[in-house]
Amino acid sequence: MANITVLDQDTINQIAAGEVIERPASVVKELLENAIDAGSTAVTIETKEGGLSLVRVTDNGCGIPAGEIPLAFLRHSTSKIRSAADLMTVSSLGFRGEALSSIAAVCQVELITKPQEALTGACYSIEGGQEKSLKEVGAPDGTTFLVRNLFYNTPARRKFLKAPATEGGYIADLAEKMALSHPEVSIRLIQNGSNKLFTTGNGSLKDLIYMIYGRDISANTLEVQADSPLMQVSGYIGKPVIARGNRAYENYFINGRYIRSRLISKAIEDAYKPFMMLHKYPFTVLHLTIEPELLDVNVHPTKMELRFKQEDQIYKALYQALSDALSGKEFIPEVSAGK
Ligand code: ADP
Ligand code: MG
Repeated sequence: MANITVLDQDTINQIAAGEVIERPASVVKELLENAIDAGSTAVTIETKEGGLSLVRVTDNGCGIPAGEIPLAFLRHSTSKIRSAADLMTVSSLGFRGEALSSIAAVCQVELITKPQEALTGACYSIEGGQEKSLKEVGAPDGTTFLVRNLFYNTPARRKFLKAPATEGGYIADLAEKMALSHPEVSIRLIQNGSNKLFTTGNGSLKDLIYMIYGRDISANTLEVQADSPLMQVSGYIGKPVIARGNRAYENYFINGRYIRSRLISKAIEDAYKPFMMLHKYPFTVLHLTIEPELLDVNVHPTKMELRFKQEDQIYKALYQALSDALSGKEFIPEVSAGK
């Protein structure tokens, strides 16, 4: 016999959190996206124990007005879209209004924030979806999130996490991708007190590639810059000599968003086919700019996948851009001069 009931909000949030927050790196991704959406020019990420015990993200963005803080932690609350129609043109990284409610459902969260125009800041704390306090405090402009003890109230999920060193590695990878996706934002990552990454935010993709991948990779890249009516392609691609046995060096960003896409990977790999051995994958750091109307970013809660309208043309434009960049080149590897 049926005994159907609507779940309470805390239970709904915990279930929903499972789709957005899988591991500490998911927390970092969502907080970094929010920092970038807030117009920050510098963001610092600090983690302890691979982010399991602490993730702290500090930005110098627009801040959250004290009166709106509790609202920001409700599910489906966002300042970035107003209606389904806005999904067609969304250019911010976030828009689903799920991250803060999801993080707060499975962690202990403290938020300190101050918009530039506010006289004082606010400190808010929430644990397992339960609001603890909201106080006025002195604070610098911008926002700091402290997220402690991921999955403290869902031990079954905590068990699925890997060792802190592995989780920390995922965070470091993510920070690098986010840095490459936004060269104009300075990103600092500190893990267990030691500096792991610092990018200047000077806007140069080439500098970032040098910083993250080192001189030998950076010296063996070709610049790509191609405009077609559908899409702009810019960035750097590796000479075949620096190809790898997996896709770890295949980076591409669409409208500043780090994503995975079979269509994009296929266009890249097909363009490389004449120059590459089987089971080798190229080095790429490509920024694709596509009209938001041609994309559906609302495919999955983690926003790592998207759907394209006019798939064939997008494939062709990218394939062509890379083929042009590769053709006629003599792939003489640059040997580093050493130290
Ligand atoms: P979304 O990013 O999809 O809008 P979130 O749950 O991630 O949803 O955040 C909810 C809202 O909280 C955002 O729309 C934004 O207005 C505000 N917010 C979150 N993080 C920040 C931040 N670092 N700086 C300024 N505002 C923020
Ligand atoms: Mg967000």
